[in-house]
Amino acid sequence: IFQALILSRIFTENWRQAKLEAEQLAVAKSDFLSVMSHEIRTPLNAVIGTAYHLMESDPKPDQVDDLKRLRNSSENLLSLINNVLDYNKIESGKIELDQSFVSLKSYCETQVSLLQPLADQKGIVLKLMCDQDLPEQVCIDRTRVGQVLTNLIGNAIKFTSEGHVILRVALLRESDVDIDMRLEVEDTGSGIAAKDIQKIFGAFEQSNNSLTREYGGVGLGLAISKKLIELMGSTIEIKSEPGIGSKFSFVLTCQKMDEVKLQVQSKEPVDLSSLKVLLVEDNEMNVLIAKRQLEKRGMQVVVASSGAEALA
Ligand code: ADP
Repeated sequence: IFQALILSRIFTENWRQAKLEAEQLAVAKSDFLSVMSHEIRTPLNAVIGTAYHLMESDPKPDQVDDLKRLRNSSENLLSLINNVLDYNKIESGKIELDQSFVSLKSYCETQVSLLQPLADQKGIVLKLMCDQDLPEQVCIDRTRVGQVLTNLIGNAIKFTSEGHVILRVALLRESDVDIDMRLEVEDTGSGIAAKDIQKIFGAFEQSNNSLTREYGGVGLGLAISKKLIELMGSTIEIKSEPGIGSKFSFVLTCQKMDEVKLQVQSKEPVDLSSLKVLLVEDNEMNVLIAKRQLEKRGMQVVVASSGAEALA
């Protein structure tokens, strides 16, 4: 009995130690990813900003293609880094939703129009179909919903070689204060085999087909989308048939804007040109890019390189 007790104590102690080490390792991994991604993002923003600036500065015709390649590649790299950073944030529970009212129809139109060039390049029809009776203003986290939609529509275009991609927004239920709506992305693409369906929602997982290899990607988009949708209190659903196409959907419950507020909402575009802006930023490259962009819109910019300098 005595020996058994000693053994069990040794075992428990070893197990506790191993668990502690594993937890410390997970925190170290997560911190490393956050710091690295952040450090890479800052200079990359400068590269993208400079590429945009050069494209707008009347480049020679033979430089236009090179500049486009520079801009597209650096934007792809940025989106990859953002995904790694986001996945890490979500895993460690550091993402909080930031809800605000949006005009639903024009919000969806913008999301679709951002991906229109991709669909045009492939000769695919990209359409938005909204139910007529959707309320004008609803409360959502525009960044996170946009991230999920961009991801789902982007994948749909990527894995479709002919036919269409449709974003459908359907009203399922409406009360005085809120609504349930279904957002669905339908494509006529390659579809996904039943055995791969659960797998593709895992991080760094892709279905094993030649299209996936052809188009690259690292397999983080759906893992992030699934977690974001869960954070919004919903679940992602998928229906897919190989060779026919796929439908990814989720239902959101959103608050509606009440009638009084709706009427006082200004429809006038805001003129920013008379503003004086205090830009607080310590990275010289970022200052250069941000200053150029603000000044182009007619704003007067004063720069401070630290919080203390800004306050002074
Ligand atoms: P990535 O697109 O970077 O590979 P995702 O997590 O967005 O990562 O997608 C994971 C995998 O799921 C893809 O590689 C692809 O195999 C499959 N997939 C996602 N969306 C579709 C779709 N609309 N049609 C066919 N396959 C898809």
